Order: sequence, then structure tokens, then C-alpha cells
Amino acid sequence: MAVQTVATPSDSTVDLGPASALSCRECGHRVPLGPVFACEECFGPLEIAYDFSAYDTEELRRRIEAGPASIWRYAPLLPVPADVAGKPNLNPGWTKLVKADNLARELGVTGGLYVKDDSGNPTHSFKDRVVAQALEAARAFGFTTLSCSSTGNLAGAVGAAAARAGFRSCVFIPHDLEQGKVVMAAVYGGELVGIEGNYDDVNRFCSELIGDPAGEGWGFVNVNLRPYYAEGSKTLAYEICEQLGWRLPDQIVIPIASGSQLTKIDKGLQELIRLGLVEDRPYKIFGAQAEGCSPVSTAFKAGHDVVRPQKPATIAKSLAIGNPADGPYVLDVARRTGGAVEDVTDPEIVDAIRLLARTEGIFAETAGGVTVGVTRKLLKEGVLDPAKTTVVLNTGDGLKTLDAVAGTGLTATIRPTLDSFREAGLA
Ligand SMILES: *Cc1c(COP(=O)(O)O)cnc(C)c1O
Ligand SMILES: [Zn+2]
Repeated sequence: MAVQTVATPSDSTVDLGPASALSCRECGHRVPLGPVFACEECFGPLEIAYDFSAYDTEELRRRIEAGPASIWRYAPLLPVPADVAGKPNLNPGWTKLVKADNLARELGVTGGLYVKDDSGNPTHSFKDRVVAQALEAARAFGFTTLSCSSTGNLAGAVGAAAARAGFRSCVFIPHDLEQGKVVMAAVYGGELVGIEGNYDDVNRFCSELIGDPAGEGWGFVNVNLRPYYAEGSKTLAYEICEQLGWRLPDQIVIPIASGSQLTKIDKGLQELIRLGLVEDRPYKIFGAQAEGCSPVSTAFKAGHDVVRPQKPATIAKSLAIGNPADGPYVLDVARRTGGAVEDVTDPEIVDAIRLLARTEGIFAETAGGVTVGVTRKLLKEGVLDPAKTTVVLNTGDGLKTLDAVAGTGLTATIRPTLDSFREAGLA
């Protein structure tokens, strides 16, 4: 009999650490670990179920604290083999949690304001966290090509991870993305395909490709490997709490594209509570969108449970998903925790990028402008409590979206003389 290279969902030899099964978020139906993402009973999304029953809280805490300075310190809580840190990967995570006292003063926050700065990841966005999980699943299931539909950052993260791990990569993006993101995705040597359409068109195309023989052996990190991919966002929750001294923040402001990151940060916080690693007390989760692509905040403000798709038109292209897969779950999380979902205009995004740069020396991409802008707006509206510990996510690097702050440049051009310097009023 020929050796099977792609594991079937019933393969019990798959070693993904504490991950024990896939479970449907809607009906609870369970299936063995495999490259599947939709429930065969109800088409609901599948997510990873774990067996954490053997963990002793203090032993686990010691193990984490003694672990590597990357997301792999949390390997006992992720769908990855125990020896994951030794495999070729980009070792993302353990990014800075910056105490943003200058920004706090500017915004009137007294309870402690922090920026979780994920621009410090290997490809300068939070996407390295999720791709690292999908890579391990791809290895476990015998895929040889890594792929994705991307709004830009994911393409770069997949290209880099594939290069390092020795996979072929072929990624799909809307044809009109920022140059910084196109170059960043192409430089790692994989194939980069621009699709004439927006992200939702790209995503639809990828779903078709998965069902076609042309896509055989391909691991689409955010489609057929989505349950694994999504777990990577839990590491943001783990890191924030550990960096606060194993404490939950009171309020977190998170950007929304598909909504996966926001819902998994909530899942991560719930796990830490259940495992006894943090004290069980209330926290609030706030979602942030750009007004030009605000399907979730529109539904939140209207009190709807369903998210009506929109056609995106915003400079925050990394968040420009008009039909967000996890939109309804974001609404659940925001309402359950007593948070909210809000949006800001493109000029407000640019203002917020400048504000963060000028106060804290952090140059955020447009998604960071969205979270900082929404934080400022929610404080003004009295929705965010300035007396509470608040964490704002910056999920990407401003160098990738330079156009957003075009017009920022030289204060003056002078001759190389002191006279010229004085004439320019700079002395
Ligand atoms: C992908 C992305 C997000 C969040 O994406 P979700 O699909 O909501 O998980 C946030 N910020 C940046 C910069 C991104 O690239
Ligand atoms: Zn189901």
C-alpha cells in the first residue's frame, strides 16, 4: 500500500499537543483533528477542543515562565507538538507591552494605558502568530504548499514562514494593495497572485480552489487550516496577561477584519481564568473598525445579531473585509463582556497614527490608527472608563502603509551653513 501523504480527518497519529478534536461552535459536534473547517452537521465553524485536565496551575505557570521568548512559551495551550520551538519557523510573539504614559496623559486615561505592539513580529504584523500555528498543522497533515487569501499582511507572513520551513508558497491578494505589502509578500520568493477584485472576491476564489484538483496538497492557512490558524491569536491574550504580572486588563481595544483575532483573544482570556493562571474578574472587549468598512460596528450599534456585508472603501486595507466570517461571534463577545464596537473615519485614522507616533514613538500601520482612534472616540463618548487598565493593540508596522501619512516630511531644506539654518527659524 502506498504511503498516504495527506492525513485524513480520522488519522489518530496526528500530534498536535493538547489539541484533542475539532468541535463545532454552533452544535458542538466533534470530529477528529484534520484539515477541515466546517461542521458536517450544520456548516458551523469548527474550533480546536483541548484536553488541559492534566495541568497543575503552578507547574504550568513555571513551565511557561521558563519557556522561550516567543509564542512557544505557551505551547502547552496551543495545537502544536511539544517540540515545536525546535522546528524551522519564525518564532514570533513575546512582543512589547508598552506602558503608554504620554498617550494616557493626552487622552486622560488614569488607570494605566498600554500598547501591545505587534509590529515587532518577524514580518511586522500580528499575522506571524496565526501563520505559525497553521504551519504546524500543515506539517502534521502532510501539506507541501502554504497558501492564503490575504488583505496584505498575511501574504507576507505566509511567504516568510514557508521560506523558512521549506514549503512552497502561493498566496492571493487583491491586486491594488499598498506597495509596502506587495513587496513584503513577494520578497520571500514564493508566488504572489493579484486578483482583480476585493478581499471577499479573493476569499471566494480560494474556497473554489480548495475544492478543485489544482488545490490538492495545499494548506490555506485561513481556510482549510482556519481552526488551527485562529488559535494563534490566543497568544496575544496570554502575553498581555503575563506581561501585566498574570493579571487581566479591564479593557482591551482590538481591530476587526474577519473578527477571528478578537474572538480568540476572548477565548485565551477565558482559558487563563479556567486554568487559574489569572484571577477571575470582569473584563470588557472593544472592537475597532474603519468607517469605510464597518459591518460589525454597524450591526452592533443597530442592535442586530446578523452582520450585513459591505463594500470596503478605506485606507485601513488590512481590515477591509466586507463580509467578516466571525462577525456574529464578535457581537457576542462585545455584548457578553459589556464592551462595544466602534468605527472611525480615514482622517481620524491618520490623526491617530500621528498621535501614537508623536506621543510614544510607535509608528503604526492603519490598523493601529483604527484602534487608537477608536480608543480616543470611546473615551470621549464615556464608553471606555479612563480609570481602568486599558490595552490597545497595534497589529502592524507603519512602514507598510506609508501612503497613509504621505505629506509628512522635511521641516525645511537648507544650505549646509549656520546662516541658512538660522534663516529657516530653526535655531
Ligand atoms: C489580519 C489583521 C488583523 C485582524 O484580523 P482578523 O481577521 O480580525 O483576525 C488586525 N490587524 C492587522 C494589521 C491585520 O493584518
Ligand atoms: Zn455543527
